[in-house]
Amino acid sequence: MASTTKTVEHNRLTQADLAEVQKILLSKRQSLIENSVSLIQNAEHNGSNHSDLIDKASVEEEFRMKLRAQALEQNLIRDIDTALRNIKNGEFGYCELCGNEIGKKRIQAYPTATHCIECKTTFEAKNRFQTHGVLV
Ligand SMILES: [Zn+2]
Repeated sequence: MASTTKTVEHNRLTQADLAEVQKILLSKRQSLIENSVSLIQNAEHNGSNHSDLIDKASVEEEFRMKLRAQALEQNLIRDIDTALRNIKNGEFGYCELCGNEIGKKRIQAYPTATHCIECKTTFEAKNRFQTHGVLV
C-alpha cells in the first residue's frame, strides 16, 4: 500500500518542480525570441545585399523557409506562454481533455504538454491518417 501511494506522490509536481519547469520555460522562451530576431536580421541582410548575386527564386525560397521556421517558433512561444500562465494560476500540469494530472515525468520531458499521455495516444490513434491536429 505504502509503495503505491509513494508512486503517485512521486509523479506529482511539487512547488520545486514547478519552479524548475518555469525556469526551463523562461530560458527556452528567451532563446526562441533571440533566435527569431536573428532570423529576421539575416533575412533582411540576404534580401538587400545578395539579390543581384544569387538566384532570386532561391533567396525567396530560403526566406519562405525561414518564415515557416519562425511561425513554428511563434507557436512554441505561445505554448510556453500558456504554460507559464497556467503555472501562475495553479492550473499547470492537468490534461485539457480529461482533467487528470499529466504526470511529472511527461512534464519534465515536455514542459509545454497540455494533454496526458492517454489522451494523446487516443487522439493520435484516431488521427493516424491525418497530417494536422497534433496534440502535445
Ligand atoms: Zn487526458
